[in-house]
Amino acid sequence: MPTSLVTGGAGFLGSHLCEALLTKGHRVICLDNLESGSLANIEDLRDDAFSFLHHDVSEPIAIDEPLDFVYHLAALASPIDYMRLPLHSLKTGSYGTHHALGVAKWKRARFLLASTSEVYGDPEVHPQLETYWGNVNPIGPRGVYDEAKRYAEALTMAYHRQQGVDTSIVRIFNTYGPKMRPNDGRAIPNFLSQALAEKPLTVYGDGSQTRSFCYVDDLIRGLVLLAESGEHLPVNIGNPGEYTILQLAEAVLAATGSPSQILYEALPVDDPQVRQPDITRARQILGWEPEIELDEGLRRTLGSLERDATRA
Ligand code: NAD
Ligand code: UDP
Repeated sequence: MPTSLVTGGAGFLGSHLCEALLTKGHRVICLDNLESGSLANIEDLRDDAFSFLHHDVSEPIAIDEPLDFVYHLAALASPIDYMRLPLHSLKTGSYGTHHALGVAKWKRARFLLASTSEVYGDPEVHPQLETYWGNVNPIGPRGVYDEAKRYAEALTMAYHRQQGVDTSIVRIFNTYGPKMRPNDGRAIPNFLSQALAEKPLTVYGDGSQTRSFCYVDDLIRGLVLLAESGEHLPVNIGNPGEYTILQLAEAVLAATGSPSQILYEALPVDDPQVRQPDITRARQILGWEPEIELDEGLRRTLGSLERDATRA
């Protein structure tokens, strides 16, 4: 039975990953400081093969058993979280990634860094290929997230090149699905909770900025395929279907049947104008393709919100 350590395992993506790894027959150690994650996300994972470690990755990590994989997802991913705790974000990306890499080196485990499309910043190349170096404002409010991830990528490649650690880097594009916090602050949970409460949907700017939204099951499948491959250079994982934020708001209104209006609010500083993954490498190296398009993904996410409301 392979053993996987999942940092950030009580968060949105991490909890789905823990579940997928348990289903594959892995033993899973979920490490999280619960800053933006919650025990509720992992309460269904009670299993002899699952354990939870309450720990901050910015502090050294001690694991007293062999590990085959280290999936390093711990980070504050939502703009409202990383702007609320900028120093925590920088420490998690730097010290935290250093400690996670240290564990992978010590255990001779395959390491996967959850990086982000934000390393491309406000991109001047569209769609974004992995060879694009990006357009990031290092001193803007988003810099604490973007630069932490860029540093984490540099550190990961240095551990691979200098220390021979078996590393991989996934650049994740906007992903959504069940278990996102309704108050997470990102566009899809905001719009869904606003639509269900029949409150106005807050579209920032004129809503012409674009994003490409990947359903969580597709994303997790890609992460596991990458971890199980021998690839060391970054791979984009995301759904290339590109929507303006206004189109997204309209899709949420259609999916929920809500009578909510659109309320335009100020565009956040340095908000990227466009974002769309080029997934040629994921297709070629991993044979990976997203399968769930936006309407179906929204329908599934809504279904899970309704089930949660019935359980509460
Ligand atoms: P999330 O906020 O739901 O999960 C992050 C988890 O990390 C939380 O459980 C949080 O408590 C934990 N965490 C944060 N700092 C920590 C620390 N110092 N020590 C231990 N645990 C810590 O976010 P998510 O959407 O699940 O994102 C997971 C990863 O994927 C992140 O690395 C994020 O940058 C990356 N990512 C996500 C997306 C997306 O669209 N969801 C896009 C790009 C990249
Ligand atoms: N956004 C919006 N209304 C919201 C939340 C977000 O218009 O209530 C916009 C945000 O300005 C950005 C896009 O939706 O242009 C995606 O934002 P999100 O925070 O989900 O992800 P990121 O900006 O990190 O891609």
